[in-house]
Amino acid sequence: MSQGIVQIFQETYREFRPIAEMPEFTVEFFAFANLNNTIRLRDGKLRVRLSDLLEGAPEAVLRAIAHILLAKVYRKPLDRVHVLRYRKYAAGHHVARKVHLVRKLRGRKHIASARGEYYDLDDIFDSLNTRYFHGLLGRPNMTWSREPARNALGHYDPAHNAIVVSRIFDHPRVPRYAVEYIVYHEMLHLKHPVKLRGARRCVHPPEFVAEENLFPRLDAAKRFLQHM
Ligand SMILES: [Zn+2]
Repeated sequence: MSQGIVQIFQETYREFRPIAEMPEFTVEFFAFANLNNTIRLRDGKLRVRLSDLLEGAPEAVLRAIAHILLAKVYRKPLDRVHVLRYRKYAAGHHVARKVHLVRKLRGRKHIASARGEYYDLDDIFDSLNTRYFHGLLGRPNMTWSREPARNALGHYDPAHNAIVVSRIFDHPRVPRYAVEYIVYHEMLHLKHPVKLRGARRCVHPPEFVAEENLFPRLDAAKRFLQHM
């Protein structure tokens, strides 16, 4: 990994924490299937994984993502300039095209579309991403299941980087917060990948459960889904 990117993170760290001890940084580009960027603080060391789609991005964009990730770790307010700069870059023609090509290369599942009759899963993902994930999760392929399966609410399919939601919930009787909860749950699977997650297995480590409890209408959503 080039020295330059580590330096960017160190300088950004200094802006947030002028006198604290400088942690050890590992920054690597990682072949996510989409524009994911993650940061983890463990034993005083910061481990950053940036989407390889950001390789070769302008320095200002790398400074913006460093700002966003470190603000998240240290719970600092986000500077809008950085947020907008990153968002603009990520939405840019060039990157969007690259994301598209990469998805094609890494394989993608063509099932159905994100847009149901009542709910648009892309919209729901984007709004949850902004509200609860600092906009940091790359949107996977969002699809309503072809069949209105009753046994599973939804699932995240890492092989195809797809979140599939049972079509049964694309209905006016189903409140938006219930659909949001299903998607939120699957987004946590996206954020907390578990190795060897078999077809039916649904693994929820403690940090997953803690984060799920942050969903504001968790109880109401669970109650609704149970009695549907
Ligand atoms: Zn689960």
